[in-house]
Amino acid sequence: MEKNKKEKMKAFNDIISLCKRRGFVFPSSDIYDGFTAIYDYGPYGVLLENNIKETWWKEMTRANDNIVGLDSAIFMNPKVWEASGHVSGFSDPLTECRKCNSRLRQDTLLEDAGVFADEKMSEDEINYIFEKNIDKIKCPVCGAQDFTPGKKFNLLVQSNLGNFSSNWQKNPSYLRGETCQGIYVNYKNVLDSSRVKIPFGIAQIGKAFRNEITARQFIFRTREFEQMEMQYFIKPNDDEKVFNEWKEKRYNFYLNLGFSEKNLRWHKHENLVFYAKAAYDIEYNFPFGFKEMEGIHARGDYDLTQHSKFSGKKLDYLDPKTNERFIPHVIETSCGVGRIFLATLTEAYKEEEIKEGEKRIVLKFPKKLAPIKIAIFPLLKNKEELVSKAKEIYNSLKMDWKCEFDDNGNIGKRYRRQDEIGTPYCLTIDFDTLEKDEVTIRDRDTMEQEKVSVSDLKKYFSEKFL
Ligand code: ATP
Repeated sequence: MEKNKKEKMKAFNDIISLCKRRGFVFPSSDIYDGFTAIYDYGPYGVLLENNIKETWWKEMTRANDNIVGLDSAIFMNPKVWEASGHVSGFSDPLTECRKCNSRLRQDTLLEDAGVFADEKMSEDEINYIFEKNIDKIKCPVCGAQDFTPGKKFNLLVQSNLGNFSSNWQKNPSYLRGETCQGIYVNYKNVLDSSRVKIPFGIAQIGKAFRNEITARQFIFRTREFEQMEMQYFIKPNDDEKVFNEWKEKRYNFYLNLGFSEKNLRWHKHENLVFYAKAAYDIEYNFPFGFKEMEGIHARGDYDLTQHSKFSGKKLDYLDPKTNERFIPHVIETSCGVGRIFLATLTEAYKEEEIKEGEKRIVLKFPKKLAPIKIAIFPLLKNKEELVSKAKEIYNSLKMDWKCEFDDNGNIGKRYRRQDEIGTPYCLTIDFDTLEKDEVTIRDRDTMEQEKVSVSDLKKYFSEKFL
C-alpha cells in the first residue's frame, strides 16, 4: 500500500514536471518565484483546456436543445453574495499547527484521517469531532499533533471595485466565489428574452475565486480557477427524477471521455444543508487519492427564493399550460476545468518500455482532447524539396485540425517530443512523397506506421477524428 502511494506520488511529480517542461502549466509570476495557489496555462495547456471546455459546452448546449449559454460578469452587486449566504456562511474551518505554524483545514485533516467531516458543520461541531479524533490526526507538513482550536475563515475574495474610500473593507465588492450566482440573477432575463420553458438549463464557463486556506496538490485546489456550471430549472415535484437523470449523464460524460471506471466513484453527501434535497460528488482517483471532480446538487427553490427576497423582484414562473405559479427548483452540475485537466493528465500519462533499455513518456489523450492533432515532419530539414512539400501539406491541413510543423532533430526524437504532448498522429514527408505522393503516418498508441497518399489525407483524418 505504502509502495503504491509512493509510486503514485512519483508519477504525480513527473506529471507536474512534464507540465512545466512542455508548456502545459506554469506557476504564476514564475520569475518572481510564483504566487501561492495560482497557475498559468501555457501553449499546450491552453489547447487542452479549450478542448475540455468545448467538449463540455457541446455536451450541454448542443446535445440538449433546452440548455442555453451565458457569460455573466465576475463582479456583481454585493447584495448577491448576501442573498446567497456567502457573506455570512462561505467559510472553511481553519486551524494552525503549533509546531510549524502551517495553516490547515480541519475538515481535510479529518477526512485524511478517515473521519467524516463537512466544511458546512458549525465551528463547535467540527472542533468537537477534531478533539475526539486528535490521536489520529497529524500535521501533513511536520507530523506534529498539536493544533490551535479551529476558527471559521470566509473564502470570499474582497475588492475595492467602484469604492474609492480608504475604508472600503466596510463595503467591499467581491470577486465571484462561484459562477452559478450569475446564472440565478439572470434567470428572469433569460426567461423573458428567449423561448425557453421549464424544464430548461443555463450553462456557463468562467473564473471563480476563493481564498483557499490550504493550497496544495498543484492545480487541484487553486485560489483562481475556472468552473463549468449548469443550472437546470424544473417543476417543484420533479427533483428526484431529474436529479437522477443528470447524475447518469454527468457520469457518462467522463466515461465517454475515456476515463476508466475504476478511477471514478460516487460520494454521497450525508450532511446536507437545510435546503438541499440531495448532493453527490463524482470523485476521481487523483495521485493523492479519490477527491471531488464534480458536484451534482438538488438545491430546491433556495437560490431563486433568496434572490427574490433580497432583490424584491418576482422570480416565479407561470406555467403556460396549467396556469400554475411556482418558484422553480434547481438541479446543479458543477465542475472545475483545472480538476478535469489534472484528471485527464493523470489518466493519460504512461511510461512505456519500447524496446530493451528504451523508454518513452506518452500522454494517451482521447483524440478530441489532444492539444495537437497532427505533427508534420520533413524527413530532412536541409532538403528544400522535402521542406516545401511538408509546408504545403501542413498548410492544407492546419485549418481543419491543430497541426504542428517540426523539422528539428532526428525523426525518433521528434516522435518522443510528440508522444510527450500526446499528439495522436505524426506524418513524415520523405522521398516517397516526392516520387509517389505518399506520406508515412505513425500512430501514437500502436506506434505502427502506414503509407497514405497525399490526396487521401483529408478523408483519412476526417475518419480518424470522427
Ligand atoms: P472542495 O470540497 O474540494 O473544496 P467544493 O465542494 O467547495 O470543493 P464546489 O463549491 O461544489 O466545491 O465547486 C464545484 C466544483 O468547482 C468542484 O467540484 C471543483 O471541481 C471546482 N472547485 C472548487 N473549488 C476549487 C478550487 N479551489 N480549485 C479548483 N477547482 C475548484
